[in-house]
Amino acid sequence: MRLTILGSGTNVHPTRAASGYLVRTDHTILLDFGPRTLANLLKTGVNRHRITHILFSHYHADHFSDFITYFFDAMIFTKYQGGTRPPLTVIGPRGTKRLFRALFATLPGFTHVPFAVHFKEVADRAFKIGKTTIIPRTVTHTKNLHCLGYRIEYGGKALAYSGDSQYCDSLVRLCGDVDLAVLDCSFPASRPNPVHLHAGQCGQVAREAGVGRLVLSHLYPITERYNVREQAGEAFGGKIVVGRDLMAIKL
Ligand SMILES: [Zn+2]
Ligand SMILES: [Zn+2]
Repeated sequence: MRLTILGSGTNVHPTRAASGYLVRTDHTILLDFGPRTLANLLKTGVNRHRITHILFSHYHADHFSDFITYFFDAMIFTKYQGGTRPPLTVIGPRGTKRLFRALFATLPGFTHVPFAVHFKEVADRAFKIGKTTIIPRTVTHTKNLHCLGYRIEYGGKALAYSGDSQYCDSLVRLCGDVDLAVLDCSFPASRPNPVHLHAGQCGQVAREAGVGRLVLSHLYPITERYNVREQAGEAFGGKIVVGRDLMAIKL
């Protein structure tokens, strides 16, 4: 399994794209698709028209907005440029079907899609994509919003992605004994925010879950001024990496 960080920042950030991750197993999967991550996807050399599954943690714009650009391009490619592509399955939390139904009915050019698109709402139940096991788990982010973290297992390795999350038991369970956990490190420990983890809590989750390696991601601009690696390291003695765009990690 290979992970490439497409975006390690947030909605508006001077040097980092927002949330997006490319995961390669027996399938090529995207986790979230925030602004500026499509440009980084192109830089990886992966053929964007071969992506078959996009998993969304939630639909805050910093995890979602490049989907619109991506999909509009896919429509032009298949309608007017003679391109073909495999079916696309979009997977996400409660509200996924309603959101895309409204978008596709409203955005010009999004009707009459010439390839198969499937929308699937998931909660806390494992499923398979080929030989890859996906375990979504509801995490606590903002009030009344269904947000998912994902655990991906393939070839004897496990990766966890928090999506956006506060500290919660379900996040610790999601990360249980994974080889690599990518956590929402929006803020430094000294500048906490009620709906995101801070660096110290990332370390706490990693320690409690017994993760192998911890990747700190989803950094807000203000967070760049602090040593989040050191802050997470106060709670977690394992390997800690501050994520950056286009960083590739083999599991
Ligand atoms: Zn969010
Ligand atoms: Zn976010």
